[in-house]
Amino acid sequence: MTAREAQENLPSGSRLLRGIGVSPGTVAARVVVLKRQTLRAGWYHLPAGHIDKEEERFTAAIAAAGEELTSLREKMAGDLADALSIIDSHLLMLKDRMIVERTVAIIRRNNVNAEWALAQALSEIKERFDRIDDPYIKERFADIKHVADRVFGLLAGREHQPLAVDDRPVILVANDFSPEDTLRMRAGSVHGFVTEKGGTTSHTAIVARSLGLPAVVGLEHATSLLATGDMIVLDGSSGQVILHPEPAEILRRQENDRLERARADELERYVHLASETVDGLRIRMSANIEMLGELSVVLRYQSEGIGLFRSEFDYFHGPEPPTEEQLYLTYRSLLETMAPYPVTVRTLDVGGDKFLNRFPGNKAWLDRERNPALGLRSIRFSLHERDLFRSQIRALLRASVYGHLRILLPLVSAPAELRQAKAVIAEVGAELAADCIPVAESVAVGMMVEVPSAVVMADVFAAEVDFFAIGTNDLIQYALAIDRGNQYVAHLYEPFHPAVLRMIRQTVEAGHAGNIPVSLCGEMAGDPQCAPVLLGLGIDELSMRPAVIPRIKRLLRHARSDVLQQLAAQVLHCGDSDQVREVLAQALPHLYPEPFYQR
Ligand code: PEP
Ligand code: MG
Repeated sequence: MTAREAQENLPSGSRLLRGIGVSPGTVAARVVVLKRQTLRAGWYHLPAGHIDKEEERFTAAIAAAGEELTSLREKMAGDLADALSIIDSHLLMLKDRMIVERTVAIIRRNNVNAEWALAQALSEIKERFDRIDDPYIKERFADIKHVADRVFGLLAGREHQPLAVDDRPVILVANDFSPEDTLRMRAGSVHGFVTEKGGTTSHTAIVARSLGLPAVVGLEHATSLLATGDMIVLDGSSGQVILHPEPAEILRRQENDRLERARADELERYVHLASETVDGLRIRMSANIEMLGELSVVLRYQSEGIGLFRSEFDYFHGPEPPTEEQLYLTYRSLLETMAPYPVTVRTLDVGGDKFLNRFPGNKAWLDRERNPALGLRSIRFSLHERDLFRSQIRALLRASVYGHLRILLPLVSAPAELRQAKAVIAEVGAELAADCIPVAESVAVGMMVEVPSAVVMADVFAAEVDFFAIGTNDLIQYALAIDRGNQYVAHLYEPFHPAVLRMIRQTVEAGHAGNIPVSLCGEMAGDPQCAPVLLGLGIDELSMRPAVIPRIKRLLRHARSDVLQQLAAQVLHCGDSDQVREVLAQALPHLYPEPFYQR
């Protein structure tokens, strides 16, 4: 049922509110609205001789915030690895130069109180984040704000309020909760929460998911629309909140929730099963991740490796690029945790929609490009910024002895580019050998196939790399000339465009003719409608968000490879995407009797 239909079916006393469902589960309970005052950072001039004292007051607040976080971390059970890594990242922020040193500098330069100086430092950081397009990275500012709010609270001498007053079940509503607030909810009678701020990838949402606490975020004006004592039903999957629900509505929603859970339990069985077709064809199902913190989810879904580690996310955290040593430690952890499975680390893929605007220095080329998707991005950026590239490759090669590393080069569009990148890898390898630093005997080097020229030249490339990884997110954009981030042309962004399907086929054929494996790590890999077609086209490995692996594995385990091949042959003959969809609408119900798994 769509949200609109749901609204139309609601009795007149009820009201449907919509936010973003970030942690599944349906709960009905009374609301407690927490209207926490935003601490205003008043300005005052320090009397002469008080600067040192003010700096001490600020550093004491930072230290106290660190102690609070450390003690919360110690109280936590070991099964919440996500939450632990989030607290760790907040502890690191308490040492961040942009927060600590900058605040102290403002106190000293302007002779002002710590609250005001911290607010200034925070607004400078916010300005930088505002210039970033990537929604995931944008949301990281929320973490900085949560950490700063904790310090503001300590500067103001504020005590922690309990989140729930007594033992009755409640749903908490607030402007925002920090990940640490969410952890504190675990101990009480809180059955779910609603916030006005936040998004799917916020750390608060991640913690809610790992606690299994239903949550809706981004529900604008929630603290005004809802009042303490109101009865609501919260649906953490759809993001719907029903105010004053009828008893029948509560029952209906709870029944839906029960069905959802039964489906999830059924899928759970597939976590432990091999990913193979009925006739025994094995296909590797691996994971796409952006941060070390996601490894717990990867292990939870028993992924057979990392098919895509988007290494650029490590470059977005601080004012400076990560050091070789920091990168080395990250890659080493990745490899050690996943061994003996392969870990595919894609080298820095910035530019396009992942705009780096704060380093190294304010170079002219970092000005907004007219056409960033066609500009200095990905491998072009790395070849332009050789020192940065070399430092990443050194970190990778040094870590390579701790597991099974595959290096993946993004957006390769010409053989010369590939050769230059491989030459850098060889040079760095020779440098390490000269310094007697051990490197794994063989490290596979592959390339993303995500621009049409790479598809057309796939036979040439296949002779020069160890594997192909098809990046359909970009391939669709470049093949169809559709900006993947532009809402006005989003309807034209079509994975089932026959041109895209033929390009995938051509790449697979060229890869196999050159005896190299071909994986696919765009969003299509985890889409239940696309995956059967991709498997029929001969893809050897699908890499996707770890949580969708059981669903795709289930599709695979119900199919025979010859049937999938026939399906792929049929869609390759279609003249347009509508025909492809028609073929799938006919074929998929025979392959998979339960329609609810199809999307
Ligand atoms: C792709 O382009 O399909 C891909 C996996 O890379 P990204 O989404 O990071 O550009
Ligand atoms: Mg890409």
